[in-house]
Amino acid sequence: MIAYFPRLFEDELIYSLFARFYSDTGFLVYRDAAELLFQNPYYRPSIELINNLTVDATELLEKQMPLEQIIEKHTMLPAYIRFMQKERRNAVYQTLVHQGGNKNIFPKIAKTNEKRYLRYCPLCSEADRQKHGTTYWHRAHQLVGVNICVKHQVYLQNSDVAISGSGSPDFFNAEQFVPEQEQPRRCYNHKELELAEYIIKVFDAPLNLKNEIRIGEFLSSRVPADKYYSDSGAQRDVQLLHNEYAGFYKDFLSDNILNPVQLQKLLCGKRLSMYEICQFAFFLGISTEDLINVGSEKIDSKRCQIYEAVSRKLGIDIETVQRIDDAIAEQERLMQFRHVKSKRSEVWNVMDAELLPKVKEVCSTLYNGDGERSRPAKVGVQTVQRMLGLPDKRLDKLPMSRDEINKWMETQAHYWARELVWAVKEIEDEGQPLNWKHVRVLTNLRKSNVEVALSELKPMDERVFQIVKGLL
Ligand SMILES: [Zn+2]
Repeated sequence: MIAYFPRLFEDELIYSLFARFYSDTGFLVYRDAAELLFQNPYYRPSIELINNLTVDATELLEKQMPLEQIIEKHTMLPAYIRFMQKERRNAVYQTLVHQGGNKNIFPKIAKTNEKRYLRYCPLCSEADRQKHGTTYWHRAHQLVGVNICVKHQVYLQNSDVAISGSGSPDFFNAEQFVPEQEQPRRCYNHKELELAEYIIKVFDAPLNLKNEIRIGEFLSSRVPADKYYSDSGAQRDVQLLHNEYAGFYKDFLSDNILNPVQLQKLLCGKRLSMYEICQFAFFLGISTEDLINVGSEKIDSKRCQIYEAVSRKLGIDIETVQRIDDAIAEQERLMQFRHVKSKRSEVWNVMDAELLPKVKEVCSTLYNGDGERSRPAKVGVQTVQRMLGLPDKRLDKLPMSRDEINKWMETQAHYWARELVWAVKEIEDEGQPLNWKHVRVLTNLRKSNVEVALSELKPMDERVFQIVKGLL
């Protein structure tokens, strides 16, 4: 029997309530409290979600509010399932609400590079203590990627309580782990504050279990077509998109953003972290309302009438009509890309023609060396791109320039042979003795490399060939 149960505070983690229950009731050991609360008292209490509860505990909690509401408003679950596809979102949610079933379907609790601890805001805890006589663990302070208390605009502090600890199961009451007095550190970065507010708004929004959410498609549809789609069809220029996204966050998130591959996965709907989605949506300028309502875009009434009419006329259900309409809209979107694509192709052609003389010059300089004495180099796409200050993969789009580079490309053996010719001339010009040591210092070649190069060297320069052969 549980005689006393504390009340949940606003935005309090359910774990925090259990920890307060444990401290307030004066249990001596964790097991005693856990036996009253949990179906399995040996399991570690879940900090971010909720363990399967005993009938007693469920009844007492439900006097405060329905379990559905506890799960939505007092666990971190919305952060994990909000953008999942409908079936999985429902399956995870139902497993938690019905307190059983297969927990393997649960999303992995957020892993970050650094170990995560329960966090607090020094000013919130001060206010909690004034108002309630105790502080507690707030949900909004535990969100991955949000390092600020948006209410007070100060940075959150780590407590000593690890979120995925490996010690024996225990309850850690915030009142015992949050210091009484601590100087808060204010955040002055407006963009960081705005992003934090954005994420919290999305997190706090009611969870929708009915929407068909395809978050990758939604985000893709909001990437401006004229700016980020390359000329090679409906291909997104992820590198360009990534550069701008990284630039947008460079002053406060530089270590904590997606790399280009991860970004591509996000746009394909293969990454579902609320934090990553919000971070990218905020960069694209998508409103929180639009993001929260993905999958429930209201169809205007005129369209609805047309759907109804078609549905009646053909004897098919409205949903099918709507799907056909969606497919047509998608087709139109692709046509637009193609139009953009052909326009961009013209631009690339002009650029290619303009760049060609410069490419020739750079190739020649690389191949022959700059002036009489400098060392020859190997011509390669990357090197030319770098010397011309072009972005990565740019030359892939410029066929004439690319062909020019191909003309200058050579095998490693051929390049080594040219290096040998150059080195021998260098040594002779400087009046140094022609021996293996000097050749080796200049070329950095091993004897085995030279042996490979000999077949190329013979037709290239018979005299040098004889000299080098004599040195081996
Ligand atoms: Zn605060």
